[in-house]
Amino acid sequence: MTSTLPDERIIAFDVWHCALPVVGRRDHGIGSVGGTIEVVILRLTGESGRHGFGEASPWTVFTGTPEASFAALDRYFRPLVVGRSLKEHGAIMDEASRTVVHCTEAKAALDTALLDLAGQVTGKPLWSFLGEKCRDEIPLSCSIANPDFEADRALLERLEDDGVSIVKLKAGFRDHTFDVMRLEHIRKHHPGMTVRVDYNQGLTRKAALVQVPDIAARFRPDFIEQPVRAGDYRTMAELRGLIDVPLLADESVFGPEDMQRAIDEGICDGVSIKIMKSGGLERARQTAGMAFAAGLSAYGGDMFETGLAHLAGAHMIAATPEITLGCEFYQARYFLAEDLLEKPFPCEGGVVRVPDTPGLGNSPDMGRIERFAIQAATDQNHKTLINC
Ligand code: MG
Repeated sequence: MTSTLPDERIIAFDVWHCALPVVGRRDHGIGSVGGTIEVVILRLTGESGRHGFGEASPWTVFTGTPEASFAALDRYFRPLVVGRSLKEHGAIMDEASRTVVHCTEAKAALDTALLDLAGQVTGKPLWSFLGEKCRDEIPLSCSIANPDFEADRALLERLEDDGVSIVKLKAGFRDHTFDVMRLEHIRKHHPGMTVRVDYNQGLTRKAALVQVPDIAARFRPDFIEQPVRAGDYRTMAELRGLIDVPLLADESVFGPEDMQRAIDEGICDGVSIKIMKSGGLERARQTAGMAFAAGLSAYGGDMFETGLAHLAGAHMIAATPEITLGCEFYQARYFLAEDLLEKPFPCEGGVVRVPDTPGLGNSPDMGRIERFAIQAATDQNHKTLINC
């Protein structure tokens, strides 16, 4: 039985676009990230004075732009939310989905903030509004994606010291030889680690048909993820028949609609579930449920996020038994120079611990939000703009 949403009216809606420094560089088949990551933070205030927070974590080459998330929230979702009761959560999310197409990250932020506020008001953890809690801990995977492999050698040592036993090698951004060299290093020096390989759409069809079977046969990774472009369902389905390790879809499957097509066309053995792709926590759970019903596995993926979005994903996975392959909520600990959360994101000993305290179980530090903000639309300056 899920917790009941409280009848609390939302009286304020504040949005910040933040740029947070990161400690290294991450290369992927579709693009690189370095310098800063950009996220959009939403704060809802209820009539009791309590706050609920949510995060949109877009990546321009994958889901969309921070500017689009900011505008979706500030301009289009604000009027759907202010003055409404938290009891209208379902109607608000339905109206948001019909008011703006795409912008799934902004919808995830709105969903998260509504549920966080409901948790703060009732004293219940966010997961309790989604379903039964099926796990207290989620195994953590960290990505190996630095073009400077010396830096990743040091990261691998640190991960092993920290008890992290799953790594995902980001492949397909340089050449096959570089991917093979790094996999050989991990197998030789970290034999206890579970290894996964993610191409992030980096290969052409022609290259994928050669390189993916080679990696599968030589290294037998736990799974191989999204070798080719998101829309290339034909090659995904063909690759699946050429390898005997599971093939995961990530960019090919955003939400339930893509999931159905992926199942119908037999493109994958599993799927990466992300709240930033699905446009909300319930839609993420629905996507995982569809995968499971079709005999596919599910993994808890993420974008370039702060601990705030990680927490939303952790609560979603805690209430979604079909997601059995762990999560990749590593950025707060291993990639950001400084996270937004007041207390450290709860990962220790190679697992993420699901909070049982109210709402998300942790809040961002307002001083840090303001320090990292490059644009803001708070109720105060929004009124000023309207009055101009
Ligand atoms: Mg991926």
